Amino acid sequence: QIFMPLNFLGFVYREIRGSLANIENLFKLLDRTPQVDDSQDATTLVTREGRIEFEQVSFAYHDDRPILSDVSFTVEPGSKVAVVGESGAGKSTLVKLLFRFYDPASGRITIDGQNIADVTQHSLRQHIGIVPQDTVLFNDSIFENIRYGRPDASEEDVHEAIRLAHLDQFISQLPEGAQTKVGERGLKLSGGEKQRVAIARAILKRPAIMVFDEATSSLDSQSEQAILRALREVAKGHTSLVIAHRLSTIVDADKILVMSQGRLIEHGNHDALLSQQGVYAGLWQAQQKQAT
Ligand code: ATP
Repeated sequence: QIFMPLNFLGFVYREIRGSLANIENLFKLLDRTPQVDDSQDATTLVTREGRIEFEQVSFAYHDDRPILSDVSFTVEPGSKVAVVGESGAGKSTLVKLLFRFYDPASGRITIDGQNIADVTQHSLRQHIGIVPQDTVLFNDSIFENIRYGRPDASEEDVHEAIRLAHLDQFISQLPEGAQTKVGERGLKLSGGEKQRVAIARAILKRPAIMVFDEATSSLDSQSEQAILRALREVAKGHTSLVIAHRLSTIVDADKILVMSQGRLIEHGNHDALLSQQGVYAGLWQAQQKQAT
Protein backbone atom coordinates (compact mmCIF):
# COMPACT_ATOMS: atom_id res chain seq x y z
CA GLN A 1 0.00 0.00 0.00
CA ILE A 2 2.83 2.35 0.66
CA PHE A 3 4.66 1.50 -2.55
CA MET A 4 2.42 3.45 -4.94
CA PRO A 5 2.44 6.76 -3.05
CA LEU A 6 6.19 6.54 -2.53
CA ASN A 7 6.71 5.76 -6.16
CA PHE A 8 4.51 8.71 -7.07
CA LEU A 9 6.41 11.00 -4.71
CA GLY A 10 9.62 9.93 -6.40
CA PHE A 11 8.09 10.83 -9.73
CA VAL A 12 6.96 14.26 -8.47
CA TYR A 13 10.40 14.89 -7.00
CA ARG A 14 12.10 14.11 -10.29
CA GLU A 15 9.60 16.25 -12.21
CA ILE A 16 10.18 19.23 -9.95
CA ARG A 17 13.91 18.87 -10.14
CA GLY A 18 13.70 18.54 -13.91
CA SER A 19 11.72 21.75 -14.18
CA LEU A 20 14.06 23.51 -11.80
CA ALA A 21 16.91 22.56 -14.11
CA ASN A 22 15.28 24.31 -16.99
CA ILE A 23 14.17 27.30 -14.98
CA GLU A 24 17.61 27.79 -13.49
CA ASN A 25 19.23 27.52 -16.89
CA LEU A 26 16.75 29.95 -18.27
CA PHE A 27 17.39 32.54 -15.61
CA LYS A 28 21.11 32.15 -15.99
CA LEU A 29 20.64 32.93 -19.64
CA LEU A 30 18.17 35.71 -19.11
CA ASP A 31 19.02 37.24 -15.80
CA ARG A 32 15.47 38.57 -15.54
CA THR A 33 11.86 37.46 -15.55
CA PRO A 34 10.25 36.89 -18.92
CA GLN A 35 7.74 39.64 -19.70
CA VAL A 36 6.04 38.36 -22.80
CA ASP A 37 2.58 36.75 -22.81
CA ASP A 38 1.21 34.24 -25.30
CA SER A 39 -1.32 35.79 -27.67
CA GLN A 40 -4.89 34.62 -27.01
CA ASP A 41 -5.08 32.58 -30.18
CA ALA A 42 -1.49 31.31 -30.00
CA THR A 43 -0.90 28.13 -31.98
CA THR A 44 1.59 25.34 -31.41
CA LEU A 45 4.86 25.73 -33.29
CA VAL A 46 5.31 23.05 -35.91
CA THR A 47 8.86 22.55 -37.10
CA ARG A 48 9.40 20.95 -40.47
CA GLU A 49 12.93 21.85 -41.46
CA GLY A 50 14.07 24.33 -38.83
CA ARG A 51 14.55 27.46 -40.95
CA ILE A 52 15.02 30.62 -38.86
CA GLU A 53 14.47 34.06 -40.33
CA PHE A 54 15.13 37.42 -38.73
CA GLU A 55 13.42 40.09 -40.84
CA GLN A 56 14.49 43.68 -40.18
CA VAL A 57 14.52 43.16 -36.44
CA SER A 58 15.11 46.16 -34.19
CA PHE A 59 15.08 46.05 -30.42
CA ALA A 60 15.86 48.09 -27.30
CA TYR A 61 15.74 47.07 -23.63
CA HIS A 62 15.08 50.75 -22.85
CA ASP A 63 13.63 53.12 -25.41
CA ASP A 64 16.52 55.53 -25.31
CA ARG A 65 19.17 52.99 -26.27
CA PRO A 66 18.79 50.88 -29.42
CA ILE A 67 20.46 47.47 -29.06
CA LEU A 68 19.59 45.81 -32.40
CA SER A 69 19.01 47.86 -35.54
CA ASP A 70 17.41 46.39 -38.65
CA VAL A 71 18.96 42.93 -38.36
CA SER A 72 18.03 40.48 -41.14
CA PHE A 73 19.43 37.02 -41.75
CA THR A 74 18.32 33.47 -42.52
CA VAL A 75 19.56 30.27 -40.97
CA GLU A 76 18.93 27.60 -43.59
CA PRO A 77 17.62 24.24 -42.36
CA GLY A 78 20.39 21.98 -41.14
CA SER A 79 23.04 24.65 -41.47
CA LYS A 80 25.37 26.07 -38.85
CA VAL A 81 25.40 29.82 -38.44
CA ALA A 82 27.80 31.59 -36.10
CA VAL A 83 27.45 35.06 -34.63
CA VAL A 84 30.59 36.99 -33.72
CA GLY A 85 31.32 40.54 -32.67
CA GLU A 86 32.67 42.68 -29.87
CA SER A 87 31.36 42.37 -26.31
CA GLY A 88 28.01 44.17 -26.12
CA ALA A 89 27.41 43.92 -29.89
CA GLY A 90 24.03 42.26 -29.28
CA LYS A 91 24.80 38.55 -29.85
CA SER A 92 23.04 37.20 -26.74
CA THR A 93 20.17 39.59 -27.36
CA LEU A 94 19.53 37.82 -30.68
CA VAL A 95 19.17 34.54 -28.79
CA LYS A 96 16.87 36.10 -26.17
CA LEU A 97 14.61 37.31 -28.97
CA LEU A 98 14.68 33.89 -30.64
CA PHE A 99 13.46 32.35 -27.36
CA ARG A 100 10.91 35.18 -27.25
CA PHE A 101 11.91 36.49 -23.87
CA TYR A 102 11.31 39.86 -25.46
CA ASP A 103 9.46 40.98 -28.57
CA PRO A 104 11.22 43.02 -31.25
CA ALA A 105 10.25 46.71 -31.41
CA SER A 106 9.86 46.21 -35.16
CA GLY A 107 10.41 43.43 -37.66
CA ARG A 108 9.70 39.76 -37.05
CA ILE A 109 11.30 36.41 -36.40
CA THR A 110 9.92 33.27 -38.01
CA ILE A 111 10.64 29.57 -37.68
CA ASP A 112 9.52 27.55 -40.70
CA GLY A 113 7.35 30.48 -41.73
CA GLN A 114 5.55 30.88 -38.38
CA ASN A 115 5.97 34.18 -36.59
CA ILE A 116 7.26 33.24 -33.14
CA ALA A 117 4.99 35.93 -31.65
CA ASP A 118 1.98 33.85 -32.79
CA VAL A 119 2.93 30.52 -31.19
CA THR A 120 2.92 29.41 -27.56
CA GLN A 121 6.18 30.07 -25.76
CA HIS A 122 6.07 26.52 -24.45
CA SER A 123 6.02 24.99 -27.93
CA LEU A 124 8.66 27.45 -29.13
CA ARG A 125 11.09 26.50 -26.36
CA GLN A 126 10.42 22.81 -26.81
CA HIS A 127 11.84 23.05 -30.31
CA ILE A 128 14.99 24.90 -29.34
CA GLY A 129 17.79 23.30 -27.36
CA ILE A 130 20.41 25.42 -25.69
CA VAL A 131 23.91 24.70 -24.49
CA PRO A 132 24.47 27.69 -22.19
CA GLN A 133 27.82 29.12 -21.14
CA ASP A 134 27.38 27.80 -17.65
CA THR A 135 25.37 24.63 -17.10
CA VAL A 136 23.61 23.97 -13.82
CA LEU A 137 24.22 20.51 -12.36
CA PHE A 138 22.12 19.01 -9.54
CA ASN A 139 23.25 16.93 -6.64
CA ASP A 140 22.52 13.70 -8.38
CA SER A 141 24.36 11.17 -10.53
CA ILE A 142 25.88 12.31 -13.79
CA PHE A 143 23.51 9.83 -15.46
CA GLU A 144 20.41 11.56 -14.03
CA ASN A 145 21.88 14.96 -14.78
CA ILE A 146 22.01 13.97 -18.43
CA ARG A 147 18.58 12.33 -18.40
CA TYR A 148 17.06 15.74 -17.50
CA GLY A 149 17.33 16.42 -21.24
CA ARG A 150 14.44 13.98 -21.75
CA PRO A 151 13.15 12.45 -18.52
CA ASP A 152 11.53 9.49 -20.28
CA ALA A 153 14.72 8.52 -22.13
CA SER A 154 15.78 4.88 -21.82
CA GLU A 155 19.06 3.86 -20.24
CA GLU A 156 20.45 3.00 -23.68
CA ASP A 157 19.52 6.43 -25.01
CA VAL A 158 21.36 8.11 -22.14
CA HIS A 159 24.47 6.00 -22.76
CA GLU A 160 24.30 6.79 -26.45
CA ALA A 161 24.12 10.52 -25.64
CA ILE A 162 27.12 10.12 -23.30
CA ARG A 163 29.08 8.53 -26.11
CA LEU A 164 28.08 11.09 -28.72
CA ALA A 165 28.92 13.94 -26.34
CA HIS A 166 32.40 12.40 -25.89
CA LEU A 167 31.87 11.98 -22.16
CA ASP A 168 32.41 8.22 -22.06
CA GLN A 169 36.13 8.32 -21.48
CA PHE A 170 35.75 10.90 -18.71
CA ILE A 171 32.94 8.91 -17.07
CA SER A 172 34.85 5.63 -17.22
CA GLN A 173 37.51 7.16 -14.98
CA LEU A 174 35.03 8.21 -12.28
CA PRO A 175 34.84 6.12 -9.10
CA GLU A 176 31.27 4.99 -9.75
CA GLY A 177 31.07 5.64 -13.47
CA ALA A 178 27.83 7.25 -14.64
CA GLN A 179 26.37 6.77 -11.14
CA THR A 180 28.94 9.13 -9.59
CA LYS A 181 27.27 12.04 -7.82
CA VAL A 182 28.05 15.47 -9.22
CA GLY A 183 27.00 19.03 -8.39
CA GLU A 184 27.55 21.21 -5.34
CA ARG A 185 27.77 18.31 -2.93
CA GLY A 186 29.36 15.86 -5.34
CA LEU A 187 32.15 15.85 -7.83
CA LYS A 188 32.81 19.27 -9.33
CA LEU A 189 33.05 19.22 -13.10
CA SER A 190 35.23 21.58 -15.13
CA GLY A 191 33.62 24.15 -17.42
CA GLY A 192 34.30 22.00 -20.47
CA GLU A 193 32.90 18.84 -18.86
CA LYS A 194 29.76 20.71 -17.81
CA GLN A 195 29.27 21.94 -21.37
CA ARG A 196 29.51 18.37 -22.61
CA VAL A 197 26.83 17.37 -20.07
CA ALA A 198 24.66 20.12 -21.59
CA ILE A 199 25.45 18.79 -25.06
CA ALA A 200 24.47 15.26 -23.99
CA ARG A 201 21.17 16.66 -22.64
CA ALA A 202 20.60 18.40 -25.95
CA ILE A 203 21.39 15.20 -27.89
CA LEU A 204 18.69 13.43 -25.85
CA LYS A 205 16.20 16.23 -26.47
CA ARG A 206 16.94 16.29 -30.23
CA PRO A 207 15.43 19.71 -30.84
CA ALA A 208 15.00 21.02 -34.41
CA ILE A 209 17.13 24.03 -33.52
CA MET A 210 20.24 24.10 -31.36
CA VAL A 211 21.75 27.21 -29.82
CA PHE A 212 25.27 27.00 -28.48
CA ASP A 213 26.54 29.85 -26.34
CA GLU A 214 30.28 29.37 -26.26
CA ALA A 215 31.92 30.04 -22.91
CA THR A 216 34.00 33.19 -22.84
CA SER A 217 36.59 31.68 -20.54
CA SER A 218 39.08 29.73 -22.57
CA LEU A 219 39.28 25.98 -22.22
CA ASP A 220 42.39 23.92 -22.71
CA SER A 221 42.65 22.85 -26.32
CA GLN A 222 41.95 19.19 -25.55
CA SER A 223 38.60 19.93 -23.95
CA GLU A 224 37.81 22.49 -26.64
CA GLN A 225 38.38 19.80 -29.27
CA ALA A 226 36.17 17.35 -27.35
CA ILE A 227 33.40 19.96 -27.23
CA LEU A 228 33.74 20.70 -30.91
CA ARG A 229 33.48 17.03 -31.81
CA ALA A 230 30.43 16.66 -29.55
CA LEU A 231 28.82 19.71 -31.09
CA ARG A 232 29.32 18.41 -34.59
CA GLU A 233 27.46 15.33 -33.44
CA VAL A 234 24.53 17.31 -32.03
CA ALA A 235 24.44 19.63 -35.04
CA LYS A 236 24.02 16.76 -37.52
CA GLY A 237 20.73 17.27 -39.31
CA HIS A 238 19.87 20.19 -37.04
CA THR A 239 19.84 23.90 -37.57
CA SER A 240 22.39 25.43 -35.25
CA LEU A 241 23.18 28.91 -34.11
CA VAL A 242 26.49 29.42 -32.33
CA ILE A 243 27.48 32.51 -30.38
CA ALA A 244 31.21 32.35 -30.73
CA HIS A 245 34.05 34.00 -28.88
CA ARG A 246 36.89 32.03 -30.39
CA LEU A 247 36.89 32.20 -34.16
CA SER A 248 38.85 28.95 -34.38
CA THR A 249 35.68 27.10 -33.31
CA ILE A 250 33.53 28.37 -36.18
CA VAL A 251 35.83 28.15 -39.19
CA ASP A 252 33.55 25.39 -40.51
CA ALA A 253 30.28 27.38 -40.13
CA ASP A 254 28.12 27.68 -43.24
CA LYS A 255 27.63 31.35 -42.49
CA ILE A 256 29.22 33.77 -40.07
CA LEU A 257 27.35 36.91 -39.03
CA VAL A 258 29.57 39.73 -37.84
CA MET A 259 27.82 42.16 -35.51
CA SER A 260 28.91 45.53 -34.28
CA GLN A 261 26.87 47.92 -32.14
CA GLY A 262 23.64 46.08 -32.86
CA ARG A 263 24.08 45.96 -36.62
CA LEU A 264 24.96 43.15 -38.94
CA ILE A 265 28.02 44.51 -40.69
CA GLU A 266 29.41 41.49 -42.57
CA HIS A 267 28.30 38.00 -43.42
CA GLY A 268 29.68 35.06 -45.33
CA ASN A 269 31.69 31.93 -44.69
CA HIS A 270 35.18 32.06 -43.18
CA ASP A 271 37.04 32.17 -46.50
CA ALA A 272 34.74 34.76 -48.04
CA LEU A 273 35.04 36.99 -44.99
CA LEU A 274 38.83 36.68 -44.91
CA SER A 275 39.07 37.76 -48.53
CA GLN A 276 36.84 40.79 -47.82
CA GLN A 277 39.64 42.00 -45.51
CA GLY A 278 37.11 43.75 -43.30
CA VAL A 279 36.26 43.52 -39.60
CA TYR A 280 36.17 39.71 -39.49
CA ALA A 281 39.58 39.44 -41.16
CA GLY A 282 40.93 41.88 -38.57
CA LEU A 283 39.48 39.87 -35.67
CA TRP A 284 40.89 36.67 -37.15
CA GLN A 285 44.38 38.12 -37.49
CA ALA A 286 44.25 39.48 -33.93
CA GLN A 287 43.24 36.06 -32.53
CA GLN A 288 45.89 34.30 -34.58
CA LYS A 289 48.55 36.60 -33.13
CA GLN A 290 47.28 35.97 -29.61
CA ALA A 291 47.49 32.23 -30.14
CA THR A 292 51.15 32.31 -31.16
P1 ATP B 1 29.10 39.48 -24.83
O1 ATP B 1 29.98 38.97 -25.93
O2 ATP B 1 29.85 40.33 -23.86
O3 ATP B 1 28.26 38.42 -24.17
P2 ATP B 1 26.87 40.36 -26.52
O4 ATP B 1 27.28 40.71 -27.90
O5 ATP B 1 26.21 39.04 -26.32
O6 ATP B 1 28.07 40.55 -25.52
P3 ATP B 1 24.42 41.44 -25.40
O7 ATP B 1 24.48 40.64 -24.14
O8 ATP B 1 23.44 41.07 -26.42
O9 ATP B 1 25.86 41.53 -26.06
O10 ATP B 1 24.21 42.94 -24.96
C1 ATP B 1 24.01 43.99 -25.89
C2 ATP B 1 23.81 45.28 -25.12
O11 ATP B 1 22.57 45.21 -24.40
C3 ATP B 1 24.88 45.55 -24.09
O12 ATP B 1 25.22 46.91 -24.14
C4 ATP B 1 24.22 45.22 -22.76
O13 ATP B 1 24.70 46.04 -21.76
C5 ATP B 1 22.76 45.50 -23.03
N1 ATP B 1 21.89 44.61 -22.25
C6 ATP B 1 21.96 43.26 -22.21
N2 ATP B 1 20.98 42.77 -21.42
C7 ATP B 1 20.29 43.84 -20.93
C8 ATP B 1 19.15 43.97 -20.06
N3 ATP B 1 18.55 42.91 -19.54
N4 ATP B 1 18.74 45.24 -19.79
C9 ATP B 1 19.35 46.31 -20.32
N5 ATP B 1 20.41 46.25 -21.17
C10 ATP B 1 20.88 45.02 -21.47
